[in-house]
Amino acid sequence: MTDRPGIVITGASGRMGQMLIKTVLASDKCRLVGVLERTGHDWIGQDIGTATGGQPVGVAVTDDAVEVFAKAQAVIDFTAPAATVGFAGLAAQARAVHVIGTTGLSDDDLKAINAAARHAVIVRAGNMSLGVNLLVQLTKKVAAALDEDFDIEIIEAHHNQKVDAPSGTALMLGEAAAEGRGVDLKDVSDSGRDGITGARKRGDIGFSAIRGGDIVGEHDVLFAAAGERIVLRHLATDRAIFARGALKAALWGQDKAPGEYDMMDVLGI
Ligand code: NAP
Repeated sequence: MTDRPGIVITGASGRMGQMLIKTVLASDKCRLVGVLERTGHDWIGQDIGTATGGQPVGVAVTDDAVEVFAKAQAVIDFTAPAATVGFAGLAAQARAVHVIGTTGLSDDDLKAINAAARHAVIVRAGNMSLGVNLLVQLTKKVAAALDEDFDIEIIEAHHNQKVDAPSGTALMLGEAAAEGRGVDLKDVSDSGRDGITGARKRGDIGFSAIRGGDIVGEHDVLFAAAGERIVLRHLATDRAIFARGALKAALWGQDKAPGEYDMMDVLGI
């Protein structure tokens, strides 16, 4: 027996799923106890090591969330909104810490996740990297220091397979800028400009999304005034930063009371 927390990774074949599996296998602070994929996926029943072209690691890919969650102290989940909402309920029943990296969640999805957090620890963040969470804090501070003479624009770039926009990180940065300014993002958000949009409204927070190639994730927060500009920038070049952050969150959550937390709580910033 070992007291290292057992971790389950969902979306095993996904970009983040594979990175998370590598990160957990390489860590001496936890054990990989299960990997999940969708029913019907080619990998179901195969060892995850051999499915990814390496040596067997003794963990078979399954589509039975209830069975693997029962063995887990934490579930790390970077999949899609519908899957994540289902996993939140099941992870809470198993009293496992649920680390959610999935983005594009609707208000209803967030309500369901919030309900699950009454029974278990959930750590959810649109970006699990230390650098972006620091950028969020900086954005709040700079926005609080500047008035509406500075137009705030958030520009993000991601790979060509990303399905949601603006990115979860862009929204975190927008929320931080709005909070710094003392306004509600819903009232000032301006995204998806196209055609004759009219002049920019003073006080708006704008979003632009670039999609192309294999870009891991790039975010600029631009404060533009007459005669000067400030740009806060984060460039992610390796998905490992998100996986390391997610694992840190899974371990951090082990002794916490049920509730919903974010990476600021985990990082103590
Ligand atoms: P991806 O490569 O498309 O992987 C998604 C995985 O989830 C795939 O294995 C997919 O299986 C699985 N999946 C989707 N719907 C499912 C369902 N209903 N049931 C079970 N499995 C399901 O995407 P990715 O680039 O890894 O990103 C995944 C999520 O993480 C996105 O929301 C992304 O924005 C987010 N993300 C967050 C952070 C962060 O730090 N918070 C960082 C990077 C990415 P199939 O292939 O069978 O569909």
